[in-house]
Amino acid sequence: MFEFSDIAIWWQEIVTWFLAQPLFAQVLVIIGVVAVLVLAVILVYYVLKGVAYLIYYLFKGIYYLLKGIGLLFYKIFEGLYYAISGKPKPQKCCETPNEQQTQQQQSTQQPPQVEEEPIVPIQKTPQVVHPEITFCSECGNKFTDTMLESLSTSGVAYCIHCGSKKTQDYQMSIESQ
Ligand SMILES: [Zn+2]
Repeated sequence: MFEFSDIAIWWQEIVTWFLAQPLFAQVLVIIGVVAVLVLAVILVYYVLKGVAYLIYYLFKGIYYLLKGIGLLFYKIFEGLYYAISGKPKPQKCCETPNEQQTQQQQSTQQPPQVEEEPIVPIQKTPQVVHPEITFCSECGNKFTDTMLESLSTSGVAYCIHCGSKKTQDYQMSIESQ
């Protein structure tokens, strides 16, 4: 059996042998022992590192394997569900984002429309003249621009069709209605 006393004897023999050697050999032995120890440490480090990587990739592989199995079962049950229920498998779920993307791309490709303010010609007739008063109450003909201008500026206008007098009061009475 392997006992501590054996180690002590063994070690004692080594020390005796070591002391018996010349100094040059002793230095060489020390260097060799140190080198072996360093190599042993490096070896142990890489072995542990390798074991760690092995365990890491093992777990990673198991993870992807379980993920694949889960996905497989999901696809199988999904297929069974649509086969049993008879519903059409919705495949547009993957197409709509692309369509939206293309629409967005199209919209982005289009030059941004410069919202030019419409060049509004300076209206001689103010906005107070509403469309409902642009017709003569007497003859029913439409007021001309000249009549509207006269009505808004001077407050009095005459219908060019029937000659009836139109005043600002008439305009006000129409607006109040
Ligand atoms: Zn008239």
